[in-house]
Amino acid sequence: MSLDEQLRSHGLRVTGIRRDVLDLLQRSDRALSHADVERALPERADRVTLFRVLQSFEDAGLAHRVLDVQGTSRYASCSTECDAHAHHDVHAHFRCTACSGVFCLERVALPEVNVPKGFTVTASRLELEGRCSSCA
Ligand SMILES: [Zn+2]
Ligand SMILES: [Zn+2]
Repeated sequence: MSLDEQLRSHGLRVTGIRRDVLDLLQRSDRALSHADVERALPERADRVTLFRVLQSFEDAGLAHRVLDVQGTSRYASCSTECDAHAHHDVHAHFRCTACSGVFCLERVALPEVNVPKGFTVTASRLELEGRCSSCA
């Protein structure tokens, strides 16, 4: 599916910046922060616009947000099998301690955890730490 088709099939209007950001996320082997995306875009983008684009991707199920222990948000594109509406951060991530790269471990699902009665889970994450293949 082309970038335009992917945007449309997720209910998003096609704009130049949406196309550029989606292309960037899908080509990257790692999750990208706002700053990473801003730096890599072919044209300078307004910060607020960029924030909205990433947010719209998250809402539409085209990307998911990965929060690391320092609280930095990074975005990664969702694999095509990703369900557009039930795609919270359901897999584990790997963080490289050398380059700070965050990688999706899409095959490693987060375990279903039963929390005590009355508790509500609003977020869960499973992060592995070590060295990526380029830094090993
Ligand atoms: Zn690395
Ligand atoms: Zn991920």
